[in-house]
Amino acid sequence: MRVSTGFESGRVDTLEIGKRRVVVAVPHDVAAPKFRQWFAFDVEADVGATAEIVVANAEACTWADAFGGEYRVYASDGDAWRRTDSKLDRGRLVVRHTFERPRVRLAYYPPYPSSRITALRKTVRAAGGIESTLGYTQAGRAIERLVLGSGDRSVWIVAQQHPGESMAGWFVEGLVSALCEGRAGARELLQKATLSIVPRMNPDGVALGNHRTNATGLDLNRVWASDDAPIEVASVRDTMKMTGAHFALDVHGDERLPWVFAQASDAYEGRPKSIGESIAAFEAAMVAATPDYQTEHKYPKGPGGPPNLAFCANWIQHQFGCAALTLEMPFSDHKKRPDPRGFFPARARRLGEKAIVGILAALDAQDVKTSVS
Ligand SMILES: [Zn+2]
Repeated sequence: MRVSTGFESGRVDTLEIGKRRVVVAVPHDVAAPKFRQWFAFDVEADVGATAEIVVANAEACTWADAFGGEYRVYASDGDAWRRTDSKLDRGRLVVRHTFERPRVRLAYYPPYPSSRITALRKTVRAAGGIESTLGYTQAGRAIERLVLGSGDRSVWIVAQQHPGESMAGWFVEGLVSALCEGRAGARELLQKATLSIVPRMNPDGVALGNHRTNATGLDLNRVWASDDAPIEVASVRDTMKMTGAHFALDVHGDERLPWVFAQASDAYEGRPKSIGESIAAFEAAMVAATPDYQTEHKYPKGPGGPPNLAFCANWIQHQFGCAALTLEMPFSDHKKRPDPRGFFPARARRLGEKAIVGILAALDAQDVKTSVS
Protein backbone atom coordinates (compact mmCIF):
# COMPACT_ATOMS: atom_id res chain seq x y z
CA MET A 1 0.00 0.00 0.00
CA ARG A 2 1.01 3.58 -0.48
CA VAL A 3 -0.10 6.98 0.87
CA SER A 4 0.41 10.20 -1.10
CA THR A 5 -0.55 13.86 -0.80
CA GLY A 6 0.91 15.29 -4.01
CA PHE A 7 -2.18 17.27 -5.01
CA GLU A 8 -3.74 20.64 -4.16
CA SER A 9 -4.94 20.60 -0.51
CA GLY A 10 -3.36 17.16 -0.03
CA ARG A 11 -2.12 16.81 3.53
CA VAL A 12 -1.55 14.04 6.06
CA ASP A 13 1.33 12.53 8.02
CA THR A 14 1.95 8.85 7.34
CA LEU A 15 2.78 6.87 10.48
CA GLU A 16 2.60 3.26 9.40
CA ILE A 17 2.06 1.26 6.22
CA GLY A 18 1.21 -2.40 6.61
CA LYS A 19 -0.04 -5.06 4.24
CA ARG A 20 -3.73 -4.28 4.67
CA ARG A 21 -3.59 -1.29 7.00
CA VAL A 22 -2.28 2.25 6.93
CA VAL A 23 -2.09 4.59 9.89
CA VAL A 24 -1.96 8.35 9.30
CA ALA A 25 -2.20 11.46 11.45
CA VAL A 26 -3.73 14.91 10.90
CA PRO A 27 -0.94 17.52 10.85
CA HIS A 28 -1.41 21.04 12.19
CA ASP A 29 -1.71 24.04 9.86
CA VAL A 30 1.63 25.15 8.46
CA ALA A 31 2.74 27.99 10.80
CA ALA A 32 -0.25 27.57 13.17
CA PRO A 33 0.17 24.66 15.62
CA LYS A 34 -3.12 25.43 17.37
CA PHE A 35 -5.16 24.38 14.32
CA ARG A 36 -5.22 20.70 13.43
CA GLN A 37 -8.26 19.45 11.51
CA TRP A 38 -7.85 19.13 7.74
CA PHE A 39 -6.72 16.00 5.98
CA ALA A 40 -6.82 14.85 2.35
CA PHE A 41 -4.75 11.98 1.01
CA ASP A 42 -4.62 9.16 -1.51
CA VAL A 43 -4.21 5.51 -0.64
CA GLU A 44 -3.15 2.97 -3.24
CA ALA A 45 -3.60 -0.78 -2.98
CA ASP A 46 -4.28 -3.82 -5.16
CA VAL A 47 -7.71 -3.89 -6.73
CA GLY A 48 -9.93 -6.21 -4.73
CA ALA A 49 -8.06 -5.68 -1.46
CA THR A 50 -9.91 -4.55 1.65
CA ALA A 51 -7.87 -2.31 3.89
CA GLU A 52 -8.22 -0.46 7.15
CA ILE A 53 -7.22 3.19 7.03
CA VAL A 54 -6.77 4.73 10.46
CA VAL A 55 -6.55 8.45 11.27
CA ALA A 56 -4.81 7.94 14.57
CA ASN A 57 -5.02 11.36 16.18
CA ALA A 58 -8.63 12.39 15.52
CA GLU A 59 -9.10 13.08 19.23
CA ALA A 60 -6.11 15.44 19.25
CA CYS A 61 -7.66 17.68 16.59
CA THR A 62 -8.86 21.21 17.29
CA TRP A 63 -12.53 20.25 16.93
CA ALA A 64 -12.13 16.62 17.95
CA ASP A 65 -15.82 16.11 18.70
CA ALA A 66 -16.61 17.07 15.10
CA PHE A 67 -15.57 13.56 14.03
CA GLY A 68 -18.28 11.88 16.10
CA GLY A 69 -22.03 11.84 15.56
CA GLU A 70 -23.09 11.89 11.93
CA TYR A 71 -19.67 12.77 10.55
CA ARG A 72 -18.16 10.37 8.00
CA VAL A 73 -14.92 10.63 6.04
CA TYR A 74 -15.52 11.47 2.37
CA ALA A 75 -14.00 9.30 -0.37
CA SER A 76 -13.59 9.40 -4.12
CA ASP A 77 -12.05 6.82 -6.42
CA GLY A 78 -13.28 8.52 -9.56
CA ASP A 79 -15.07 11.77 -10.21
CA ALA A 80 -17.78 11.64 -7.58
CA TRP A 81 -17.39 11.93 -3.81
CA ARG A 82 -19.33 9.78 -1.39
CA ARG A 83 -19.31 9.21 2.36
CA THR A 84 -17.53 6.18 3.75
CA ASP A 85 -18.88 4.27 6.75
CA SER A 86 -16.00 5.56 8.89
CA LYS A 87 -16.27 5.17 12.64
CA LEU A 88 -14.81 7.10 15.53
CA ASP A 89 -13.22 4.35 17.62
CA ARG A 90 -11.23 5.14 20.76
CA GLY A 91 -10.24 8.57 19.48
CA ARG A 92 -9.27 7.29 16.03
CA LEU A 93 -11.19 7.61 12.78
CA VAL A 94 -11.30 4.24 11.09
CA VAL A 95 -12.25 3.68 7.44
CA ARG A 96 -12.58 0.23 5.89
CA HIS A 97 -12.25 0.39 2.14
CA THR A 98 -12.43 -2.24 -0.58
CA PHE A 99 -10.40 -1.13 -3.57
CA GLU A 100 -12.52 -1.34 -6.69
CA ARG A 101 -9.93 0.92 -8.29
CA PRO A 102 -6.24 1.07 -7.41
CA ARG A 103 -6.49 4.44 -5.70
CA VAL A 104 -8.91 6.16 -3.34
CA ARG A 105 -8.80 9.76 -2.15
CA LEU A 106 -10.00 10.39 1.40
CA ALA A 107 -10.72 13.83 2.82
CA TYR A 108 -12.28 15.63 5.76
CA TYR A 109 -14.53 17.24 3.15
CA PRO A 110 -14.30 17.18 -0.67
CA PRO A 111 -11.79 19.90 -1.65
CA TYR A 112 -12.97 22.58 -4.05
CA PRO A 113 -10.30 22.41 -6.76
CA SER A 114 -8.66 25.27 -8.69
CA SER A 115 -9.67 23.60 -11.96
CA ARG A 116 -13.29 24.40 -11.13
CA ILE A 117 -12.45 28.06 -10.44
CA THR A 118 -10.83 28.15 -13.88
CA ALA A 119 -14.06 26.79 -15.38
CA LEU A 120 -16.08 29.28 -13.35
CA ARG A 121 -14.02 32.18 -14.70
CA LYS A 122 -14.85 31.02 -18.20
CA THR A 123 -18.55 30.86 -17.34
CA VAL A 124 -18.39 34.39 -15.93
CA ARG A 125 -16.63 35.74 -19.03
CA ALA A 126 -19.15 34.05 -21.33
CA ALA A 127 -21.97 35.69 -19.36
CA GLY A 128 -20.43 39.15 -19.77
CA GLY A 129 -18.89 39.28 -16.30
CA ILE A 130 -15.44 40.51 -15.41
CA GLU A 131 -12.58 38.92 -13.50
CA SER A 132 -9.90 40.86 -11.73
CA THR A 133 -6.99 40.21 -9.42
CA LEU A 134 -7.15 42.12 -6.15
CA GLY A 135 -3.67 41.23 -5.01
CA TYR A 136 -1.10 38.48 -4.69
CA THR A 137 -0.45 36.43 -1.59
CA GLN A 138 2.90 35.91 0.05
CA ALA A 139 3.39 32.82 -2.11
CA GLY A 140 2.40 34.76 -5.24
CA ARG A 141 -1.10 33.36 -5.68
CA ALA A 142 -3.82 35.63 -7.06
CA ILE A 143 -6.70 36.78 -4.87
CA GLU A 144 -9.43 36.81 -7.46
CA ARG A 145 -12.67 38.69 -7.77
CA LEU A 146 -15.46 37.82 -10.20
CA VAL A 147 -17.88 40.61 -11.04
CA LEU A 148 -21.39 40.04 -12.35
CA GLY A 149 -24.35 42.35 -12.86
CA SER A 150 -24.77 46.02 -13.61
CA GLY A 151 -27.03 47.39 -10.89
CA ASP A 152 -26.21 50.24 -8.53
CA ARG A 153 -26.38 48.04 -5.43
CA SER A 154 -23.08 46.51 -4.40
CA VAL A 155 -23.19 42.94 -3.11
CA TRP A 156 -20.11 41.12 -1.81
CA ILE A 157 -19.74 37.36 -1.46
CA VAL A 158 -16.49 36.11 0.03
CA ALA A 159 -15.60 32.46 0.52
CA GLN A 160 -12.88 30.26 1.94
CA GLN A 161 -11.21 32.65 4.31
CA HIS A 162 -10.83 29.36 6.15
CA PRO A 163 -9.24 27.10 3.55
CA GLY A 164 -10.51 23.79 4.95
CA GLU A 165 -14.12 24.94 4.65
CA SER A 166 -14.27 23.91 1.02
CA MET A 167 -18.08 23.69 0.97
CA ALA A 168 -17.84 27.48 0.64
CA GLY A 169 -16.18 26.99 -2.75
CA TRP A 170 -18.97 24.65 -3.86
CA PHE A 171 -21.55 27.17 -2.61
CA VAL A 172 -19.99 29.98 -4.66
CA GLU A 173 -19.89 27.78 -7.74
CA GLY A 174 -23.62 27.16 -7.34
CA LEU A 175 -24.35 30.85 -6.96
CA VAL A 176 -22.19 32.01 -9.87
CA SER A 177 -23.37 29.26 -12.23
CA ALA A 178 -27.02 29.96 -11.42
CA LEU A 179 -26.51 33.69 -12.01
CA CYS A 180 -24.85 33.00 -15.36
CA GLU A 181 -27.49 30.45 -16.37
CA GLY A 182 -30.35 32.81 -15.54
CA ARG A 183 -31.93 30.67 -12.81
CA ALA A 184 -34.74 31.97 -10.61
CA GLY A 185 -34.18 35.60 -9.64
CA ALA A 186 -30.88 35.87 -11.54
CA ARG A 187 -31.92 38.46 -14.10
CA GLU A 188 -33.55 40.66 -11.53
CA LEU A 189 -30.56 40.49 -9.21
CA LEU A 190 -28.07 41.23 -12.00
CA GLN A 191 -30.10 44.30 -12.97
CA LYS A 192 -30.42 45.52 -9.44
CA ALA A 193 -26.90 44.83 -8.22
CA THR A 194 -23.28 44.46 -9.11
CA LEU A 195 -21.96 41.37 -7.38
CA SER A 196 -18.32 41.07 -6.37
CA ILE A 197 -17.48 37.45 -5.63
CA VAL A 198 -14.21 36.26 -4.11
CA PRO A 199 -14.35 32.48 -4.53
CA ARG A 200 -11.17 31.83 -2.57
CA MET A 201 -9.92 34.40 -0.07
CA ASN A 202 -7.12 32.15 1.15
CA PRO A 203 -5.41 30.50 -1.84
CA ASP A 204 -2.16 29.80 0.05
CA GLY A 205 -4.05 28.02 2.83
CA VAL A 206 -5.91 25.91 0.26
CA ALA A 207 -2.72 24.98 -1.59
CA LEU A 208 -0.96 24.02 1.65
CA GLY A 209 -3.81 21.91 2.96
CA ASN A 210 -4.32 24.19 5.96
CA HIS A 211 -7.64 24.09 7.72
CA ARG A 212 -7.93 27.53 9.24
CA THR A 213 -5.04 29.84 8.39
CA ASN A 214 -2.93 31.36 5.62
CA ALA A 215 0.74 30.60 4.91
CA THR A 216 1.88 32.75 7.83
CA GLY A 217 -0.49 31.14 10.31
CA LEU A 218 -3.10 33.93 10.41
CA ASP A 219 -6.83 33.27 10.77
CA LEU A 220 -8.10 35.76 8.18
CA ASN A 221 -11.50 36.06 9.82
CA ARG A 222 -9.92 37.56 12.95
CA VAL A 223 -7.93 40.40 11.41
CA TRP A 224 -10.43 42.60 9.56
CA ALA A 225 -10.00 45.45 12.04
CA SER A 226 -6.18 45.43 11.84
CA ASP A 227 -4.31 48.24 10.11
CA ASP A 228 -1.64 45.72 9.18
CA ALA A 229 -4.04 43.01 7.99
CA PRO A 230 -2.45 40.55 5.52
CA ILE A 231 -2.88 41.12 1.80
CA GLU A 232 -5.76 38.61 1.54
CA VAL A 233 -7.91 40.81 3.78
CA ALA A 234 -6.38 44.22 2.99
CA SER A 235 -6.90 43.85 -0.78
CA VAL A 236 -10.55 42.84 -0.41
CA ARG A 237 -11.20 45.52 2.21
CA ASP A 238 -9.66 48.23 -0.02
CA THR A 239 -11.78 47.20 -3.00
CA MET A 240 -14.91 47.13 -0.84
CA LYS A 241 -14.18 50.70 0.22
CA MET A 242 -14.22 51.68 -3.46
CA THR A 243 -17.43 49.83 -4.36
CA GLY A 244 -19.28 50.20 -1.07
CA ALA A 245 -21.63 47.41 0.02
CA HIS A 246 -25.39 47.04 0.40
CA PHE A 247 -25.35 43.38 1.37
CA ALA A 248 -22.67 40.78 2.02
CA LEU A 249 -22.25 37.09 2.71
CA ASP A 250 -19.10 35.58 4.18
CA VAL A 251 -19.35 31.86 3.43
CA HIS A 252 -18.06 29.19 5.84
CA GLY A 253 -18.46 25.65 7.10
CA ASP A 254 -18.88 24.74 10.74
CA GLU A 255 -17.07 21.67 12.06
CA ARG A 256 -19.57 20.91 14.80
CA LEU A 257 -23.03 22.27 14.05
CA PRO A 258 -25.19 20.03 11.82
CA TRP A 259 -27.24 22.86 10.33
CA VAL A 260 -27.23 25.47 7.60
CA PHE A 261 -27.60 28.93 9.09
CA ALA A 262 -26.53 32.53 8.74
CA GLN A 263 -25.18 34.36 11.74
CA ALA A 264 -25.72 38.09 12.05
CA SER A 265 -24.02 40.23 14.64
CA ASP A 266 -26.24 40.50 17.69
CA ALA A 267 -28.49 43.54 17.59
CA TYR A 268 -26.79 46.38 19.44
CA GLU A 269 -27.70 49.89 20.40
CA GLY A 270 -27.47 52.17 17.42
CA ARG A 271 -27.65 49.44 14.78
CA PRO A 272 -29.68 50.85 11.88
CA LYS A 273 -33.15 49.31 11.78
CA SER A 274 -32.77 48.60 8.07
CA ILE A 275 -30.04 46.05 8.84
CA GLY A 276 -32.42 43.92 10.89
CA GLU A 277 -35.08 44.21 8.19
CA SER A 278 -32.67 43.18 5.48
CA ILE A 279 -31.52 40.15 7.49
CA ALA A 280 -35.11 39.10 8.22
CA ALA A 281 -35.99 39.37 4.51
CA PHE A 282 -32.95 37.27 3.53
CA GLU A 283 -33.84 34.57 6.02
CA ALA A 284 -37.54 34.44 5.10
CA ALA A 285 -36.69 34.13 1.40
CA MET A 286 -34.11 31.40 2.06
CA VAL A 287 -36.52 29.40 4.21
CA ALA A 288 -39.09 29.62 1.41
CA ALA A 289 -36.52 28.71 -1.25
CA THR A 290 -34.92 25.64 0.29
CA PRO A 291 -35.70 23.22 3.14
CA ASP A 292 -31.95 23.13 3.88
CA TYR A 293 -32.05 26.67 5.27
CA GLN A 294 -33.23 27.07 8.84
CA THR A 295 -33.26 29.81 11.47
CA GLU A 296 -33.79 27.89 14.69
CA HIS A 297 -30.24 26.67 15.33
CA LYS A 298 -27.35 29.13 15.31
CA TYR A 299 -24.41 30.14 17.46
CA PRO A 300 -25.44 31.34 20.91
CA LYS A 301 -25.80 35.06 21.41
CA GLY A 302 -22.62 36.90 22.33
CA PRO A 303 -21.91 38.91 25.48
CA GLY A 304 -23.65 42.00 24.07
CA GLY A 305 -22.16 45.35 23.21
CA PRO A 306 -20.81 46.43 19.84
CA PRO A 307 -19.78 43.61 17.49
CA ASN A 308 -16.17 42.53 17.16
CA LEU A 309 -14.91 44.18 13.98
CA ALA A 310 -12.12 41.65 13.55
CA PHE A 311 -14.72 39.42 11.87
CA CYS A 312 -15.39 40.02 8.18
CA ALA A 313 -19.20 40.28 8.38
CA ASN A 314 -19.11 42.60 11.40
CA TRP A 315 -16.53 44.82 9.74
CA ILE A 316 -18.61 45.11 6.54
CA GLN A 317 -21.79 45.82 8.49
CA HIS A 318 -20.06 48.50 10.53
CA GLN A 319 -18.20 50.04 7.60
CA PHE A 320 -21.14 50.27 5.20
CA GLY A 321 -24.19 50.16 7.48
CA CYS A 322 -25.60 47.19 5.56
CA ALA A 323 -26.59 43.65 6.48
CA ALA A 324 -23.63 41.28 6.37
CA LEU A 325 -23.99 37.64 7.35
CA THR A 326 -21.68 34.76 8.09
CA LEU A 327 -23.21 31.78 6.33
CA GLU A 328 -22.39 28.37 7.80
CA MET A 329 -22.80 24.87 6.35
CA PRO A 330 -22.09 21.55 8.05
CA PHE A 331 -19.17 19.20 7.39
CA SER A 332 -21.22 16.24 8.59
CA ASP A 333 -24.89 16.26 7.73
CA HIS A 334 -27.98 18.42 8.10
CA LYS A 335 -29.79 17.26 11.20
CA LYS A 336 -33.12 18.56 9.98
CA ARG A 337 -32.75 16.75 6.65
CA PRO A 338 -30.44 13.77 7.08
CA ASP A 339 -29.05 12.24 3.90
CA PRO A 340 -26.78 9.21 3.55
CA ARG A 341 -24.52 11.41 1.43
CA GLY A 342 -24.19 13.98 4.23
CA PHE A 343 -23.95 17.65 3.35
CA PHE A 344 -22.26 16.71 0.07
CA PRO A 345 -20.83 19.25 -2.42
CA ALA A 346 -23.85 19.30 -4.77
CA ARG A 347 -25.97 20.26 -1.79
CA ALA A 348 -23.71 23.21 -0.95
CA ARG A 349 -23.84 24.13 -4.63
CA ARG A 350 -27.66 24.05 -4.60
CA LEU A 351 -27.73 26.26 -1.52
CA GLY A 352 -25.55 28.76 -3.39
CA GLU A 353 -28.04 28.77 -6.24
CA LYS A 354 -30.90 29.46 -3.83
CA ALA A 355 -28.99 32.36 -2.26
CA ILE A 356 -29.98 34.47 -5.28
CA VAL A 357 -33.52 34.91 -3.98
CA GLY A 358 -32.24 35.57 -0.47
CA ILE A 359 -29.91 38.34 -1.64
CA LEU A 360 -32.65 39.82 -3.78
CA ALA A 361 -35.05 39.88 -0.83
CA ALA A 362 -32.41 41.52 1.38
CA LEU A 363 -31.92 44.30 -1.19
CA ASP A 364 -35.67 44.70 -1.78
CA ALA A 365 -36.21 45.18 1.95
CA GLN A 366 -33.88 48.19 1.78
CA ASP A 367 -35.85 49.60 -1.18
CA VAL A 368 -39.10 49.41 0.80
CA LYS A 369 -37.38 51.15 3.67
CA THR A 370 -36.05 53.91 1.38
CA SER A 371 -39.40 54.54 -0.30
CA VAL A 372 -41.20 54.80 3.05
CA SER A 373 -38.78 57.23 4.69
ZN1 LIG B 1 -14.95 29.45 8.92
